[in-house]
Amino acid sequence: MPDFDFAQPTTLDEALELFAGSGEIRALVGGTDIVDQLKTGRRNADLVVDVKRIPELQRLEVTGDGLHIGAARSCTDVGEFPAVRSDYRSLAESAMLIGSWQIQNRAGVGGNVCNAAPSGDTIPPLLVHDATAVVASASGRREIALSDFFAGPGQTVLQKGEILVELVLPPIPDNSASAYLRFIPRNEMDIAVAGVGSFLQLDPSNNAVLKARIALASVAPTPLRARAAEEVLEGNVLTDELIEVAAEAAVGAATPITDVRGSAEYRRELVRVLTRRTLAICRDRING
Ligand SMILES: Cc1cc2nc3c(=O)[nH]c(=O)nc-3n(C[C@H](O)[C@H](O)[C@H](O)COP(=O)(O)OP(=O)(O)OC[C@H]3O[C@@H](n4cnc5c(N)ncnc54)[C@H](O)[C@@H]3O)c2cc1C
Repeated sequence: MPDFDFAQPTTLDEALELFAGSGEIRALVGGTDIVDQLKTGRRNADLVVDVKRIPELQRLEVTGDGLHIGAARSCTDVGEFPAVRSDYRSLAESAMLIGSWQIQNRAGVGGNVCNAAPSGDTIPPLLVHDATAVVASASGRREIALSDFFAGPGQTVLQKGEILVELVLPPIPDNSASAYLRFIPRNEMDIAVAGVGSFLQLDPSNNAVLKARIALASVAPTPLRARAAEEVLEGNVLTDELIEVAAEAAVGAATPITDVRGSAEYRRELVRVLTRRTLAICRDRING
């Protein structure tokens, strides 16, 4: 492990002052990505800042404007939070399948987002719930729609000196549900070959789709929304045939690579199957 300085600030102001310094400064939540990346030379750091002691980054609550997830909250905290389990089920599903129990206890949802892996499991659920990233630096705060947060594999639009403070998910509308599924070759401790999150809001009078969100992981340089598939669904009555057309449109959003985990063709087929299944799960959840 190369040498670096280490700090554990207890206030956001103190942390932002550290991040405003010179050199390569990296945040650490659970360290399940960054420690290995530093060890293997995939990232470097002059200073590593453990942000877990900052109260704002430990926020986890529902207010009038939705669900607030502090950037240092663990996957276990988020996955077991009652409002997440009942209203943002795709997020609970994804947080509770990352790595193992030990990894989930350490790793943060914010860390998963900031690591920006194409395969980050919590990202499609956050995208389908229209999450906003609240970021801060010594010069102020700004909000970024999560769909605009990713710049490439392992890259975000965060500027030097900026850190993620929290993720905010708007309240869920009536008659809606979300679901997340991924495919991995073994039962756990693996990276998604493909992952799909879906969200549906249905009109109870006629089963028409009022709002649809579909987001994909592991099939493009960044997690992304399958917007054409969402448009296929919105305004139309949800039938098995419509779900099939939407699943085909979702395949069109994928630009997968072939690697040891699977061929591009295999990944496209997984997008079709997982989109179909997650949409059907949303429908079942809405219908009780
Ligand atoms: C055995 C194992 C299994 C795994 N399985 C999965 C899996 O199934 N699915 C999956 O998606 N991932 C998996 N991972 C990867 C990893 O656990 C997740 O990405 C995890 O959510 C990262 O969270 P963390 O808190 O440990 O991040 P850290 O390693 O602490 O940080 C990750 C990155 O985000 C940056 N960062 C962290 N917080 C902030 C902040 N507030 N502001 C700005 N930047 C920040 C860090 O500087 C670093 O670059 C696995 C890892 C291991 C070791």
